[in-house]
Amino acid sequence: MSILIKNGRVIDPAQNIDGHYEILIEGKKIRGVYPKAKGPKTDKIIDASGCIVIPGLVDMHAHLRDPGFEYKESIRTGTMAAVRGGFTSVCCMPNTNPVNDNKTVTEFILRKNYAEGACFVYPIGAITKGQKGEELAEMGMMKEAGCIAFSDDGRPVTNSLIMRRALEYSKIFNVLIISHCEDLKLSEGGVINEGFISTTLGLRGIPKAAEEVMVARDIALAGLTGGRLHIAHVSTEGSVRLIRDAKERGISVTAETCPHYFCLTEDAVNNYNTSAKVNPPLRTERDVEAVKQGLKDNTIDVIATDHAPHHIDDKYNKEFDAASFGISGLETAFSLGLKLVEQGVLSLKQLIMKMSVTPSGIIGIPKGTLAEGADADLAVIDLSGEFIVEPDRFLSKGKNTPFKGWQLKGAVLKTVSKGKIYEWE
Ligand SMILES: [Zn+2]
Repeated sequence: MSILIKNGRVIDPAQNIDGHYEILIEGKKIRGVYPKAKGPKTDKIIDASGCIVIPGLVDMHAHLRDPGFEYKESIRTGTMAAVRGGFTSVCCMPNTNPVNDNKTVTEFILRKNYAEGACFVYPIGAITKGQKGEELAEMGMMKEAGCIAFSDDGRPVTNSLIMRRALEYSKIFNVLIISHCEDLKLSEGGVINEGFISTTLGLRGIPKAAEEVMVARDIALAGLTGGRLHIAHVSTEGSVRLIRDAKERGISVTAETCPHYFCLTEDAVNNYNTSAKVNPPLRTERDVEAVKQGLKDNTIDVIATDHAPHHIDDKYNKEFDAASFGISGLETAFSLGLKLVEQGVLSLKQLIMKMSVTPSGIIGIPKGTLAEGADADLAVIDLSGEFIVEPDRFLSKGKNTPFKGWQLKGAVLKTVSKGKIYEWE
């Protein structure tokens, strides 16, 4: 099938394109971007008047919960949520059941995605067997099976020697090590940021240092090994400073943050609101400003979702202490990112870079561009289109979001993924 997308403002930072062009798709590939496409009639025309047309978004940090926790999310529902949010590539974390720490699980995920996934899924393998932090998983075999990065996300690799070895292997296999930075002794029992609010609510706090000591350690180990380190979900001013300093010193480190760390402060957990319970926790205004500054000066390279869908019983029908951590993030991420553009933190082009082009480059996948021959992955977004966040209408099984009721701009109207058109009103 051939598709022509016309009348839209095409923004493809990878090719330095920003203007009114037509995009021709043939089968599952992009044929080209033209001022005016010539040639035989196409099977289908998409009128993108008043919209931007951008490369499909790439989320390098999501939890699809499959296998093992399909009651929270499945590959089918998770990838549907992804395309609903304009994402066409999603990297899934290994904290499934069984843990993705061997090639059988990796192959299972890829097979299942091939059969029922709405977009591309790239598995992230566990660094250690069972994510127990004791013994390295077989990274080489898992890379061969299709893992594009390694992480024990959800847990840190506590043992510094094992983290050192993982970073050494990352050089040999040329893969990324994604670090969930948390000192479990410092964070133990904590549920929100440590500070005034944790004291007034009577909840155990997680100090910023719980994140920062591990960021510092991993930067030191990246310096020692020359391995490829990526810091997940940066939430504090101190972490931003450490990463900025490491980059200035030439250490191979990249970093991501998530929309909730630049849109919300710890105030969101007042009234024991479990939908704002995340790990690392929401921090203070000062941290939010530092995260934004980090995005602006490219200390923080990527905006990822940390999409963490949960069942209502795990998230809402529980005391704050017992509720699960996480936000269902795929369907709101781009619109929340647009706030940075409104606030003058990022240009639209920079936002697209951080949500598509740059993550593709970091994990080494041929995505994030509308160049000739690229996969037909793109999103048609009405920047001025407003909508209200209604979790009940999420395609994700996870309805857990602190953004319920927010009025956001940037409605994703159509997503083309794997050459197929998904459209919404
Ligand atoms: Zn995560």
